[in-house]
Amino acid sequence: MDRIWALPIHELREKLRKKEISAKELTQIFLKRIEKYDEKISSYLTINENALKEAEEADSRIAGGEEGELLGIPLALKDIFLTKGLRTTCASKILENFIPPYDSTVVEKLKKEGYVLLGKLNLDEFAMGSSTENSAFGPTHNPWNLERAPGGSSGGSSAAMAARLAAGTLGTDTGGSIRQPAAFCGVVGLKPTYGRVTRYGIIAFASSLDQVGPITSDVEDAAILLKVIAGKDPKDSTSVDREVPDYPSLIKEKVEGLKIGLPEEYFGDGVDEEVLKRIEDAIKVLEKLGVQFKKISLPHTEYAIATYYIVAPAEASSNLARYDGIRYGLRVKGKDLIDTYFETRSKGFGAEVKRRIMLGTYALSSGYYDAYYLKALKVRTIIRNDFLEAFKEVDAIITPTTPTPAFKLGEKISDPLRMYLSDIFTVSVNLAGLPGISIPAGFTQNGLPVGMQIIGRPFDEVTIMRIGYNYQQETDWHRRIPSQFEED
Ligand code: GLN
Repeated sequence: MDRIWALPIHELREKLRKKEISAKELTQIFLKRIEKYDEKISSYLTINENALKEAEEADSRIAGGEEGELLGIPLALKDIFLTKGLRTTCASKILENFIPPYDSTVVEKLKKEGYVLLGKLNLDEFAMGSSTENSAFGPTHNPWNLERAPGGSSGGSSAAMAARLAAGTLGTDTGGSIRQPAAFCGVVGLKPTYGRVTRYGIIAFASSLDQVGPITSDVEDAAILLKVIAGKDPKDSTSVDREVPDYPSLIKEKVEGLKIGLPEEYFGDGVDEEVLKRIEDAIKVLEKLGVQFKKISLPHTEYAIATYYIVAPAEASSNLARYDGIRYGLRVKGKDLIDTYFETRSKGFGAEVKRRIMLGTYALSSGYYDAYYLKALKVRTIIRNDFLEAFKEVDAIITPTTPTPAFKLGEKISDPLRMYLSDIFTVSVNLAGLPGISIPAGFTQNGLPVGMQIIGRPFDEVTIMRIGYNYQQETDWHRRIPSQFEED
């Protein structure tokens, strides 16, 4: 069947249901594409040897008349989701040979709906980074330009989606790690409200910021995946007990009459001209659909990066204390117990992870705690209040997802601060715990994708996806595929 791999999940489901193709055939098609194309971009760390078996099981469930939201759909996961029996590395040497004894709840939910797991995708080590260059196993390349970064930390997930090496993928977002790589790779990336999706069995980076979300070719697919993974989990006390709306149908409502805010702080100096131009074009498309735009201000935006780089490393330094070489993962034996800790952590962690552990340990140490960590928490509340104030007047907020299109691999890796600044438009959303989505909004003259970010009220994923869905009815950016990946 011609170019079936280019279809979104919602169309593949129909073909599977009507038995126009089997799950096994579809899985074979994607496995063949991975074999043919992944050497160009290095998006996969591990291939699931059981993929075809899982596809056969899906086929027998289909034959038995069973319904499942994802029956027979081949997906791939950022290598931060625990997958029982399948190596999960978090792109770190310290977990290079780690085989989880259980599945994360999200994976259990996907299994229940009958998905097929193709494999595990590259990321920055422990999700710390914006380019995948911090992966212990080498960087991923951007399918639109192989010299460019795919973004990060979910760079493998976004690159695999852009090259159509999976029908859909999942990532995680602590400060932008779903939205920034989605923008760089020209695909859709949704970070749900903090608490919307369970974090149980996801390797923790910064627990008050981490959230799981879909990276897909279009908004309807993001809605399908969110519906499957959202909801309260007794194993994660921060997951929220709130009804899960029927996202795929609700996002199809019209957008006429919605009010959207444009924060002046996100459209100023330092934003690439072409990025601004593409967002202006997108705003015009939405205006034609009857959306009203209004200038707003989020006055504490300038403190977001500083606040994030206290809170996230502080939480990371605590979360990463568990990698001690004793219970699981790498162990480098030293002359005694303390020495074993030193050796294991020195050899197991990469430079950026060590930097974060040191920053975080410093910010939490006695005498500095009040000056840094406590202060950062207070500023975090102020940043959240900026948004809540704005949402009294507008239903959603639109910004560029990133100040520039994809930068070159190697361009920022030796200057951590410059790398940190690439998340300047995404981190506030995590600090405030809000939902945000990045939608493809066109290309630069050099053929690099530009992403538009839509931010919503707490738990109002419906409105931001609705805006994105209606925008995609008028545009075809999300259907473009980089030409060197277009052959079968
Ligand atoms: N790039 C940011 C960081 O390095 C965000 C990463 C993420 O969201 N996981 O921390």
